[in-house]
Amino acid sequence: MRLFDTHAHLDLPTAGTLSERRSAARRAKSAGILDILIPGVTPATWPELQTVAADLRAHVPSVRIHTAVGIHPYWIGDLHQLEISAIRALLSEAIASAPAGLVAIGECGLDFGRRGDAIARGRQVALLDLHLERARDTGLPLLLHCVKAHAVLLERLSAAPTPPCVLHSFSGSAELAKVYCRAGHYISFAGAITNPRARKPLAAARAVPDGRLLVETDSPDQTPYSRRGALAVRNEPAFLVDIAEATAQARGTDADTLAAQTTANAYTVFGLSRPSADARADPDGLRR
Ligand SMILES: [Zn+2]
Repeated sequence: MRLFDTHAHLDLPTAGTLSERRSAARRAKSAGILDILIPGVTPATWPELQTVAADLRAHVPSVRIHTAVGIHPYWIGDLHQLEISAIRALLSEAIASAPAGLVAIGECGLDFGRRGDAIARGRQVALLDLHLERARDTGLPLLLHCVKAHAVLLERLSAAPTPPCVLHSFSGSAELAKVYCRAGHYISFAGAITNPRARKPLAAARAVPDGRLLVETDSPDQTPYSRRGALAVRNEPAFLVDIAEATAQARGTDADTLAAQTTANAYTVFGLSRPSADARADPDGLRR
């Protein structure tokens, strides 16, 4: 099994110390997670993201670390003193000067739910539009966070031709999932799918066509239900196996088939070459 964690915030302080993050990457490797995408959340953390990515590439070379730069709706408030034109310049500069390994733009999007309520909706839409401009210019996919804002997001995505994007940690309905997929976008499922009582993500997971499905941990947040105990457990990329199994079960398939499909989809949307035939047959001697 070879899995691709399309969303892991290994750059954030909540992911632990540098040595804890290296250990997490090693456990990911042992579990068959051989690609990890670290999204950016705010200009203040973009340099740290590149530092962490370089450190993990040096210490755990068999896991491919990919990156993205973007501004998450929760962090928009940090930029309240900046004009949109200044934020546009920051984003353009970060994308233009990004080292190898940048495969997407984000995390960005809209949050009209309780947590995103503090940020004016007009400001959220203006920042989403900045990310959309860059995606259209570069052809890179967006990593989209969307809570209670799907009508506006769909309207902005369809305002002009947009590269295929990723709806991260999808929490919408099966109907909405189909709408995004018909528009050429991808749907990524996170830990909520491991809650057997959460009917909505299970129904959405069944509605996504094989070629549009992705999986992610959103670590260190969203610890899968299957790993929750009396003590708080920090989520990490190795737990992607649980999400793959739950998603496979919802779709009536097996985890190996689902891993092959979702990993191939991730390579397609992020424009990555497939590993060599040898590596695919037995990545790092991990055949199980
Ligand atoms: Zn995220």
